[in-house]
Amino acid sequence: MAEKQKFKTQVINDEILEKLSLKNRYSFVNNNLTPILSQQQFNFFRKVQRFCLRFEKKNEITHGPEEDIYDWIPAFGAEGYITRQHTFEMIDLDYPEWGLAADFLRYIAIDNFDTQFAMGSGATVLAINPIYDHHEHIPVRLEALKDLVTGQSPSAILITEPERGSDAVHMLTTCEEQEDGSYLLNGEKIFNTNAPKSKWVVAYATAEANNGNMMAQFLINTNWEGWSCERVGVPWTPKIFIGREKFNNLKVPKEYILGPVGKGREHLFEGLVPERIAIACGAIAQCWGAVSHAVIYANLRKQFNQEILKFQGVGFLLADLWAKTTNLTFGLLKFCEGFDEKFKKFEGDIPRNISQAMVASASQFKYQATALSKEVCYETANLMGGAGLCDNTLMQDYLNISRIQEILGGSRQIQQYIMSLSLRTLYKMSVS
Ligand SMILES: Cc1cc2nc3c(=O)[nH]c(=O)nc-3n(C[C@H](O)[C@H](O)[C@H](O)COP(=O)(O)OP(=O)(O)OC[C@H]3O[C@@H](n4cnc5c(N)ncnc54)[C@H](O)[C@@H]3O)c2cc1C
Repeated sequence: MAEKQKFKTQVINDEILEKLSLKNRYSFVNNNLTPILSQQQFNFFRKVQRFCLRFEKKNEITHGPEEDIYDWIPAFGAEGYITRQHTFEMIDLDYPEWGLAADFLRYIAIDNFDTQFAMGSGATVLAINPIYDHHEHIPVRLEALKDLVTGQSPSAILITEPERGSDAVHMLTTCEEQEDGSYLLNGEKIFNTNAPKSKWVVAYATAEANNGNMMAQFLINTNWEGWSCERVGVPWTPKIFIGREKFNNLKVPKEYILGPVGKGREHLFEGLVPERIAIACGAIAQCWGAVSHAVIYANLRKQFNQEILKFQGVGFLLADLWAKTTNLTFGLLKFCEGFDEKFKKFEGDIPRNISQAMVASASQFKYQATALSKEVCYETANLMGGAGLCDNTLMQDYLNISRIQEILGGSRQIQQYIMSLSLRTLYKMSVS
């Protein structure tokens, strides 16, 4: 099957474009990961890949600018490919392959298919997780959970505010309790991935502005009165809808309160380990997408009568980027497997000392994987010369998306800050 990302003028010759097919790129990634995946992991990985290959072919997807990635969500949801972080037995879904490691593989397969689509579903997962953790078998929460996991709607997490970004716990959006136990929300949120397209969102507010100890967490139906949302333009991810929302006396009934006043901060931090690990997984998936393009290209493109891979300037740099990508993949997969083991052993209630250590690891992976994606996506595009810069392949999407990953989920400097605090704690634990 010919490579399909032909938008305008074809720059790359037919033979190379055909060899850059999704099938071949999957094959390259598989040959790299086979040695460390179990048979069960590999079978699942291949299953997701086969679905993406069929979906791309059947729907004649070109990944061109006119396509709406949100149209694809129901089909992926029906297969259980929005998230595999959990098995979701409480909504009668019983996925055999689940956990952070399974979700990492799902992410790589889907990101190779379309990186903006993968990032959009990643943001839905940020709202799925708190509903999963705090559904308490309340029917409206389970209904929302099912909608999101099965792809009936994307979703968004609303933490960031126009005046409170990195300093997320000193929120200005307020929640005021009413006599019937409902809350009235007032304030503004910003940069919330998927929000303009979402039926359900999860939002934080505080009973007292700037007081992190008074935060609460809410499930919101965006059809409710008092909700308004406009789209923020982020040119590096033009297909993803990012929102800026206003809450104007938005009334949240009692059964939609996922975390009461005083619990919001704890819920926010509880979600950060899987969120940062998921961003790291996404960043590594982008590295594989970019490396597989460049390796295929460099093995075929000839200059001075030689495949460009054979010139040290190309081959050695590609080898360096490939080694870094492989090593970080193996490390991240090991972390995910370790997390899954503990999650299952302690039935989701991982002891505090272990989960504390995981906070630092999540920051380490988020910090390094997003920095690597930035390096790999730029350098591989560069190794493809003009072909890496034109719109004939997904390289432009990788290059663009790799520019934003260091900001979301806590910026590079915030991860460094968290890690430096952990070094202080570790010092106190270690040195007598
Ligand atoms: C594409 C995109 C998608 C996003 N998706 C979501 C989402 O789904 N939900 C959501 O709630 N938010 C989302 N965000 C928001 C994102 O989490 C914030 O942009 C991020 O936390 C930074 O906040 P800020 O933009 O206000 O920058 P600021 O906090 O104003 O930071 C500006 C600069 O100052 C630095 N800085 C700030 N404080 C410190 C410090 N103490 N030490 C050192 N340096 C510091 C930062 O590192 C940064 O370089 C998204 C953002 C983008 C761009």
